[in-house]
Amino acid sequence: LPGRMMDFPLTLTHFLERARTFFGRTELTSRRPDKSLHRSTYADLHRRACQLAHALRRLGVKPGDRVASLCWNHHQHLELYFAVPSMGAVLHTLNLRLHPNDLGYIARHAEDRVLVVDRSLLPLFEKFAGSVSSLQHVIVVPDDGPAPCGRLDYEQLLAAEPDSYDFPSLDERTAAMLCYTSGTTGNPKGVLYSHRSIVLHTLASCMVDVLGIREADVVLPVVPMFHAAAWGLPFDAVATGAKIVLPGPHLDPASLLELMAHERVTVAGGVPTIWLGILAMLDQEPKRWDLSAMRSMLIGGSAAPASLIDGFLRRHGLEVTHAWGMTEMNPIGTIARLKGHHAGVNDTARLAVRASQGFPLPFVEERHVSDTGQVLPWDAQTMGELEVRGPWVASSYYGDEGKDRFTPDGWFKTGDVVTIDADGYVRITDRSKDVIKSGGEWISSVALENALMAHPAVLEAAVFAGRHPKWDERPLAAVVLKPGQSATKEELTTHLEKNFVQWWLPDAYLFIPQIPRTSTGKFLKTKLREDFGDHLMK
Ligand code: ADP
Repeated sequence: LPGRMMDFPLTLTHFLERARTFFGRTELTSRRPDKSLHRSTYADLHRRACQLAHALRRLGVKPGDRVASLCWNHHQHLELYFAVPSMGAVLHTLNLRLHPNDLGYIARHAEDRVLVVDRSLLPLFEKFAGSVSSLQHVIVVPDDGPAPCGRLDYEQLLAAEPDSYDFPSLDERTAAMLCYTSGTTGNPKGVLYSHRSIVLHTLASCMVDVLGIREADVVLPVVPMFHAAAWGLPFDAVATGAKIVLPGPHLDPASLLELMAHERVTVAGGVPTIWLGILAMLDQEPKRWDLSAMRSMLIGGSAAPASLIDGFLRRHGLEVTHAWGMTEMNPIGTIARLKGHHAGVNDTARLAVRASQGFPLPFVEERHVSDTGQVLPWDAQTMGELEVRGPWVASSYYGDEGKDRFTPDGWFKTGDVVTIDADGYVRITDRSKDVIKSGGEWISSVALENALMAHPAVLEAAVFAGRHPKWDERPLAAVVLKPGQSATKEELTTHLEKNFVQWWLPDAYLFIPQIPRTSTGKFLKTKLREDFGDHLMK
């Protein structure tokens, strides 16, 4: 018997119009390259999104066309987030930290037709512009001065257009955004989000037991808007009418802390490397910034060390929320919330739950499987590859790549090696490519590096596989010490011995000034393996 309810489409246009109608006075703050603040409102966001849609249509953008952005986090980028999908076209966010050759590859693969670029990023764009023959128009956002002569200027284009637009009624399955994986483990692959997947992800991520974003919040996406649709935070803010604060290009700890204190930010999201820097700075100058408004610091993208979660809470009274996700998942999959029955457990056990990757949001389903595809038990011990399915999980990549990541029975293979406990909490022990196989047995690099980062002298640590003549692979630890601190191999070994069996302990410690990072700020273990992989063979 069919239900008799309206088949009302789930589209981003609704969020945009809702923001104008109900939250027109909500503030949208965006930091310019000179660090001054640009202040506008959601009424302005709506008006300017309409003007942008007119301008893009005048330039020939049609439904389904890809419009690329090469931009920092700022209000014009937010305008693109809503105007392009609402007119039926697809916003393709380009990652400004990639090599120009990779950017050229991705823009050609996506067949971008129009590209919107920050003036400050024009030199980067010019390095690959010539290789993208599909590009018909380039629009310059005058972030640090007017667009150069002969270039289309974003602000001038908008100023000439009417401030309302008759957005089409779209099917909710229409493509809205195209985000490429950052290529940590191979060629970047395109993930094509739909209006429906983004809307459902927004509704689920705003639930109280997920991020709990509401109108009274002030949301700061530190995560770049070119990455995995900025974890949904821009959509969460606009949908709920929360104020949004965009940091522009200033992502160093002191600039972020100043912005958080000044704008009374309540929710901020970023990768662990950002938060490690912020914690180190707060430890140095605990009284300098007033973060009393902050209620949740969202960490994801790679594993949040327990010492980081604990350090923020104990030393600064700040609450960290750990979540796991992937570009292929729009991107949030699981979140580490305590359940009612944890009220009775001790602090150490609670911390262990909060440092796990958590359990799935509604509509995300999980399982883990062995090498032969056998579904494994949720016993907190058996390791296997995590597979997921749900309405905001990719069903295939854009183009032909990566078909082997989708199982015949409708699951997506994440490439993450995990255990799952009886309550459904996932613990990532490694990405399958980072697992260390010593004499055929698996060692978790994530567990070791998180323990190392709990040592008082260690700022950052990454554990990776070194080739070994007898055991095939052995763990090596790359360690960055805090300024003015010291630690020896013996001290670090004694520190780890408390929690790990002997054969798990790293064979060598490499003290280096900085751990190489991926374009999204994760530790780049392929580079460590390249540079130091033969350390034990000498
Ligand atoms: P890339 O694959 O290029 O790194 P993504 O940003 O989509 O691009 O990365 C997704 C991967 O990041 C996951 O498969 C997982 O390995 C890792 N990851 C994300 N969040 C977490 C987390 N909270 N803990 C551990 N690993 C995480």
